[in-house]
Amino acid sequence: MADDCIFCKIRDGDIPSEILHRDDHCFAIRDIGPAAPTHLLVIPVEHFTFLRDMTPEFHPTLGAMFAAARDLAAAEGIDESGHRLVINQGNHAGQAVDHLHLHVLGGRPMGPVA
Ligand code: 5GP
Ligand code: ZN
Repeated sequence: MADDCIFCKIRDGDIPSEILHRDDHCFAIRDIGPAAPTHLLVIPVEHFTFLRDMTPEFHPTLGAMFAAARDLAAAEGIDESGHRLVINQGNHAGQAVDHLHLHVLGGRPMGPVA
């Protein structure tokens, strides 16, 4: 738990939020400022800032996050139409929340990545 981390607070129920998915490794919520008609965040239970912080014991968490993203995309109806998975890392990527998260975006054509 990192002090003053929004996603830790959502994880712990200190900030009420609709939890779309939860397992031992990760949980998922809707982004508060959606950049697409469907915009979900898949978040590891453990507070990591960067992928480089995820030592091998947490590699199963990465698998669980991608599996959750895949299943949520299907549940949201953006599987066959297509969707984008994004993990922003650090300053140049514009990472605003320092608790690592996987964006799941869909429901409109995305255009080029950058
Ligand atoms: P980043 O830029 O760090 O990759 O993405 C952070 C995302 O978290 C943004 O898309 C932002 O809208 C979302 N976000 C920030 N605060 C909250 C919050 O309190 N609740 C939810 N559901 N999303 C948040
Ligand atoms: Zn956190």
